[in-house]
Amino acid sequence: MQPLFIIFLITSLLVAYIIVKPMLRERGREKVRSQIFPKTWRKILRRNVPYFHTMPADMQLQLKQHILVFIHEKNFMGFEGIDIDDEIQVTIAAQACLLLLNRKADYYPKLKSIYVYPAAFITKHPTKDAAGVVHEQRRVLSGESWELGKVILSWKDTIDGADIVDDGRNVVIHEFAHQLDQETGSANGAPFLKHKTRRCWSDVLSKEFDRLVSRTARGETTLLDKYGATNPAEFFAVATEVFFEKPKEMQHYHANLYSQLKGLYQVDPALWL
Ligand SMILES: [Zn+2]
Repeated sequence: MQPLFIIFLITSLLVAYIIVKPMLRERGREKVRSQIFPKTWRKILRRNVPYFHTMPADMQLQLKQHILVFIHEKNFMGFEGIDIDDEIQVTIAAQACLLLLNRKADYYPKLKSIYVYPAAFITKHPTKDAAGVVHEQRRVLSGESWELGKVILSWKDTIDGADIVDDGRNVVIHEFAHQLDQETGSANGAPFLKHKTRRCWSDVLSKEFDRLVSRTARGETTLLDKYGATNPAEFFAVATEVFFEKPKEMQHYHANLYSQLKGLYQVDPALWL
């Protein structure tokens, strides 16, 4: 065979693979979405995910279909004595998929695994001090989102976050907001946005972030948790928690921020309550 022909053949196969692969994946997902949502899973939603009952019926259906795909595609792993069961998978998947409603859902394409610990867990990260010496920093966390395909969650905090629906805190929503943010590279508070909305998003979020930083420095209590003042990525994750958990308050005190998040997530949780 001529070398030129071989190159042509390989290129054609590669192009065909690139075009056909997403089509096949979507067809597979369509099949999973059409499966019956188990009755026992519905009971878990009723028990652990109060948002489910407040949203319109069409979104409930969407959420159930997303949960089926999410559980089908993602790998759940339990640590420190946790056995992964339906309750853990459905509770986590439901909250993660809240962020995908009414949008072209790609189900967190970089994410492969969800690690679940019974309660808060200790992480060790190497950090460099000013002299360039590397230290091991230990932190106790309820959740962590990695760029390389992993979300780590404390089951106790997951349950608490879902159960108390209006405290503005939800570790699953927080970590999956980071996942969305990380789809465009490192987390920086700027998830994938349409070109024409990017400028406005950046203006509003920068202003709101600066406001939170100043108010936190003055020791004021704010609707958004002061952890959001850490950096723009944490601000986006904290704002997302409040958007879903305290939508009316956010609409009242941070109207522009609410409007930007409504544009991004394509839902209006203030109407669900
Ligand atoms: Zn965070």
